Amino acid sequence: MPQPARRLEVFTESVIRQMTRLANQHGALNLAQGFPDFDPPAELIDALAIAIRGPHHQYAITWGAPRFRQALAKKHHHFSGQEIDPEQHLVVTCGSTEAMMVAIMTACDPGDRVIIFSPFYENYGADAILSGAIPVHVPLHAPDFHFDPDQLRSAFASGAKAIVVCNPSNPCGKVFTREELEFIGSLATEFDAFVIMDEVYEHIVYAPHGHTYFATLPGMWERTLTCGSLSKTYSITGWRLGHVIAPAHLISRARKVHDFLTVGAAAPLQEAAVTALEFPDSYYSDLQKAYDSKRDLFMGYMRGTGLPFTEPQGAYYTLLDISSLGFPTDTQAAEWLIREVGVTGVPGSSFFREPEHRYIRFHFAKKEETLRAAGDMLVKGLVNR
Ligand code: GLN
Repeated sequence: MPQPARRLEVFTESVIRQMTRLANQHGALNLAQGFPDFDPPAELIDALAIAIRGPHHQYAITWGAPRFRQALAKKHHHFSGQEIDPEQHLVVTCGSTEAMMVAIMTACDPGDRVIIFSPFYENYGADAILSGAIPVHVPLHAPDFHFDPDQLRSAFASGAKAIVVCNPSNPCGKVFTREELEFIGSLATEFDAFVIMDEVYEHIVYAPHGHTYFATLPGMWERTLTCGSLSKTYSITGWRLGHVIAPAHLISRARKVHDFLTVGAAAPLQEAAVTALEFPDSYYSDLQKAYDSKRDLFMGYMRGTGLPFTEPQGAYYTLLDISSLGFPTDTQAAEWLIREVGVTGVPGSSFFREPEHRYIRFHFAKKEETLRAAGDMLVKGLVNR
């Protein structure tokens, strides 16, 4: 019998998605895969009901429906200050999952090296391998998850073609400072590498931290591919609407990758989502306030466990340090949490290159009642163990 492709043997199925299946199987609360259990804004659901009755049932233009691209360009300009030409500077993808794949395939040939910080969102490793690129990992050092400038420089010096940066960062909650981003930019310039930004959590950043759009740093637009999505900002992870923003010479290539991978994102959903992209500023400040209080609430429960944990500066994840509980691995700890405590997290090792089994990742993009229920169960289960 022919053997299937060997490259599929070097990474596992997504542990995040696997934990969702386990949560469903055991009826445990799911704080593993980062998605809300509350509804998206009512205006958006109304817009979808209208769009679905309209004439949007065939392919949209492969790189995005014109109204959607125009609205996205305007919204991006409003927040980043950057002029985006909807005809040249963006491609609409099926979620930022596809956006990241498109960005890496646009930047890298098979055999090229791509720098990925560790811990990292697990898709990046698989994206690199599927596109034939070789991941080069640079550690972010706990507890503040800083990088060592010399380690980063050596990774660039090893001949990297691109670096992937998730800012705000999943899973560690780091928000890169402007100085850190400028340093990354200076190395990318010195070693002539692309910067692939995952900025999907751009609107979830806790004061006093603030989001810097990497491509707006001096000289960075030309070498940056910025990936983003509507999933987290408008609580529509199932709509699968993402995008890559980059200069025209990169987008013309990115469109080809996207076209042959998926042809396009769902036409009626793009049409409806224009409503979200036109929301006033108050929508974004309300979203931030909602996440501020979710974070405060859930951090209170984390303190209640008596275990060390990370307080995110952005995004909606925390890493709980379960090393003192005596489990041989984080996976066994996660299984115990599902079975005995009734709460699902993700074993932290799936985000690290290093053999790191200290953490369980939980997310708090959930209703207050879900967070209270899960928090109570975690405190009770962990304090009594
Ligand atoms: N970004 C979310 C997480 O890290 C969801 C990932 C996914 O399954 N697409 O959990």
